[in-house]
Amino acid sequence: MSNQTPRTALVTGAARGIGAAVARRLAADGMAVAVLDLDEAAAKPVADEIVAAGGRALAIGADVADEAAVTAAVDRVVAELGAPTVLVNNAGILRDNLLFKMTVDDWDAVMGVHLRGAFLCSRAVQRHMIEQGWGRIVSLSSTSALGNRGQANYAAAKAGLQGFTKTLALELGKFGVTANAVAPGFIETDMTAATAERMGVSFEDFKKVVIAQIPVARAGTPDDIAHTVSFLASEGAGFVSGQVVYVAGGPRD
Ligand code: NAP
Repeated sequence: MSNQTPRTALVTGAARGIGAAVARRLAADGMAVAVLDLDEAAAKPVADEIVAAGGRALAIGADVADEAAVTAAVDRVVAELGAPTVLVNNAGILRDNLLFKMTVDDWDAVMGVHLRGAFLCSRAVQRHMIEQGWGRIVSLSSTSALGNRGQANYAAAKAGLQGFTKTLALELGKFGVTANAVAPGFIETDMTAATAERMGVSFEDFKKVVIAQIPVARAGTPDDIAHTVSFLASEGAGFVSGQVVYVAGGPRD
């Protein structure tokens, strides 16, 4: 256990990919972990795995863009695991298209999950952090925040999360709460596999092209991101706030 005080973490979009790796890692760090995803049944295997390894976890189904669902989810975490003082805003979706083909639904869906979702979850959880005089909010941005063809909605949301993070750092710092963003580059998950499929290329071919541009000459893994989140959520990271950490195998900002 690297954390001195038992903490409860809430990780959104944690049924698979980066969120699942973050949930496992924070549990290994000694935290009780609420594994939240749209579908409770999809989140349950991750929670069960944590419990089987000797940890404490709870699977919760909720849409992060739904205010009432977020409130109910946080109330359940408080009742069943303890007040959450670590929040990882990880839930995300892609609705890629060039601007002239992007629908209002594509735009709203992406803003809803990433920005409204991070806002609702952070607002619901901050009360518990302030009560305990300690908290860690980590939000998943992306190198796409720097601009990425076909992702006007996603890039705007991921850049928006950086401004959101810096503002939370300013507002919540005096209560012992830090807020930081992690901006991954190319990470091998269902999300990037779906991008390859949409482009009509095999995931292996897609990876070869992307890896050729990455200085460390490999794709990122969910564990690469989990490791960075673990640091930002740790007791020792209390003087790191309002930062964006690019985890992209090279300098990307
Ligand atoms: P992923 O494999 O697609 O997993 C995302 C998870 O979020 C899924 O389990 C999904 O549930 C869940 N989710 C979607 N909408 C939700 C909602 N409204 N409420 C609750 N949960 C919701 O994605 P990933 O690759 O692990 O990405 C995780 C985060 O990192 C995202 O914010 C993403 O934008 C960011 N990121 C990823 C990469 C990358 O290369 N993979 C790079 C930069 C940033 P369903 O399965 O039910 O849809």
